[in-house]
Amino acid sequence: MHSIVLVKQVPDTANITAEAMKEDGTVNRAALPAIFNPEDLHALEAALNIKQRYGGTVSAVSMGPPKATEVLRDCLYRGADRAVLLTDRRAAASDTLATSYILSQAVKTIGHFDFVFAGRQAIDGDTAQTAPQVAEKLGIPQITYTEEILSVSENRQYALIRRSIGNGYEIVSVKLPALLTVLETANVPRPQAAKRVMKYKRTEPVQWDLDNINADLDRCGVAGSPTKVFRIQSIVLKKEGFTDIAPTKDGIAALLTELVSAKTLG
Ligand SMILES: Cc1cc2nc3c(=O)[nH]c(=O)nc-3n(C[C@H](O)[C@H](O)[C@H](O)COP(=O)(O)OP(=O)(O)OC[C@H]3O[C@@H](n4cnc5c(N)ncnc54)[C@H](O)[C@@H]3O)c2cc1C
Repeated sequence: MHSIVLVKQVPDTANITAEAMKEDGTVNRAALPAIFNPEDLHALEAALNIKQRYGGTVSAVSMGPPKATEVLRDCLYRGADRAVLLTDRRAAASDTLATSYILSQAVKTIGHFDFVFAGRQAIDGDTAQTAPQVAEKLGIPQITYTEEILSVSENRQYALIRRSIGNGYEIVSVKLPALLTVLETANVPRPQAAKRVMKYKRTEPVQWDLDNINADLDRCGVAGSPTKVFRIQSIVLKKEGFTDIAPTKDGIAALLTELVSAKTLG
């Protein structure tokens, strides 16, 4: 079984310091340590687990600046067979539509695959849109919120997946190839293997630009990004104390009226 894992290097938004925000309200990426997007580690583990059970290969792909090599090397240390960095200045300012187009072209360039794995969400952009959009562009089914790959059929054409539905789960059968987004409750990522660290510590990932993946430049970067940022606002919560709401219809109606008039709702 051949798996492709989409991994993203992100600023560590869990360790915000005062320098994390620039004066204009945008993120000061240089002031935040760069880490492996947490759920992508679980996507990688799911792919490595498939390789362990059924054989095959795992290729890790990241779109980002040259520094993203760090997460790709980490993938090799943990068991991936191949790492591809997609880096090109013409891809800068890509929104999720353009990012998913570029990633889908990279997946097509790799060629044969049974699974594409991704994290459910990146902790910086936080949209959870990229992977489903990649599946759409590849024309393959997608299973979001994956917790476990229960089995792959003998003819390798179907997989049985357990996916979370919040307060429960459902088991679905999916025709392969398919894209799966993985939750952090899915597994425990394996650590880096010392022998692999020695083997790959000086390895540079395969590096591709937009020409290598035959990308239509009108669909990349600013040209391919219809999202317009209207305003960036830094919100500081000022209110202290609490308001007692009576657990009655009138109490809830009064709360809703207050939230609507304060433009918190509606
Ligand atoms: C107008 C606009 C301009 C932007 N300009 C820039 C810019 O100049 N530079 C910049 O870095 N970002 C930029 N972004 C952010 C960029 O669009 C998102 O970071 C990117 O599309 C991924 O979306 P997300 O972070 O919401 O990921 P999600 O959709 O939450 O991610 C889900 C999963 O998709 C996969 N994935 C997501 N992104 C990548 C990736 N890059 N490589 C591999 N796998 C991935 C991972 O598996 C991840 O867990 C811009 C966004 C907007 C709206």
